[in-house]
Amino acid sequence: MTEHLFSFEYSAPRTEEALEKLRRTHSRLQPLKPHFCSVTYGAGGSTKDGTRQAILELSPSGTPMAPHLSFGGDQLDVIDELLDTYRSAGVQRLVALRGDRPSGIGTGRSMVHANELVRYIRETTGDHFHIDVAAYPEIHPESDSVDSEIHYFKAKIDAGANSAITQYFYNADAYFRYRDLCQRAGIDVPIVPGIMPITNVQGLVRFSNLCGAEIPRWLNKNLQTLEKDPDALKAFGADVVTNMCQQLLDNDAPGLHFYTLNQALPSLAIWDNLGLS
Ligand code: FAD
Repeated sequence: MTEHLFSFEYSAPRTEEALEKLRRTHSRLQPLKPHFCSVTYGAGGSTKDGTRQAILELSPSGTPMAPHLSFGGDQLDVIDELLDTYRSAGVQRLVALRGDRPSGIGTGRSMVHANELVRYIRETTGDHFHIDVAAYPEIHPESDSVDSEIHYFKAKIDAGANSAITQYFYNADAYFRYRDLCQRAGIDVPIVPGIMPITNVQGLVRFSNLCGAEIPRWLNKNLQTLEKDPDALKAFGADVVTNMCQQLLDNDAPGLHFYTLNQALPSLAIWDNLGLS
């Protein structure tokens, strides 16, 4: 049986209090022996210090840490310095992204696409880093068509990415269809489903509208009904997401990447339901 790749994603802390919360979350999740834990990066450098600090501090815990990285508006020397710092700290994995524009920045400045970042990392650091990139089973909101989605995803792999993590979704068929399309396009890297536990209905609906993740009508109706009953919502959400994870693993998904939002319990509930402990 092939070993599944399980990983957890943390949000970069912006304050000492948030860093302290992240330490507590990591101390609960790292005993599960994830393949790695990643830390997000605010494009434009809004969380640069938080990302670096969290990565450097949590690396000695024994769990491989993977910083997210994007050009944002940065000069090459800023990226070079981060790559040097990470390499010296023993980091061996990165998640390379174009990133999202921080709100309030406007649309004037062009963003550097992830394939260019992957190429740059390969040119400057060779094969040192395992590079993950993002994939969108329900299609990135800016993509013109499914064909262009697959075309530009392939460009990231051709530039040297080793594997991919998907945007979250609540419909396993979207993942299976996307995986088939990738296979037909000759993309053969592992595409690990990104899993978003359900905790806060308003936040989830708002963010899903922005990032193009679809909440199926039946699920949305149930969430709206349960919103005022946090315990029932948690139990229902864990059940729905567990069933989808099981379906993904039963059908050869290479692993699961949990978007923790720096909370341990929602991911732990799904982990336990799946019998992974
Ligand atoms: P790209 O691969 O560059 O794609 C963006 C859009 O441009 C797509 O529509 C694509 O089809 C198109 N495109 C790609 N390449 C080209 C090209 N060469 N020419 C023309 N069009 C092109 N955001 C953050 O800010 N920080 C994070 O830490 C972060 N972590 C994430 C982790 C995961 C696993 C995922 C799935 C997303 C994450 N995001 C993060 C969100 C991500 O940055 C956004 O979805 C962003 O809008 C696109 O990033 P990308 O790397 O997929 O971009």
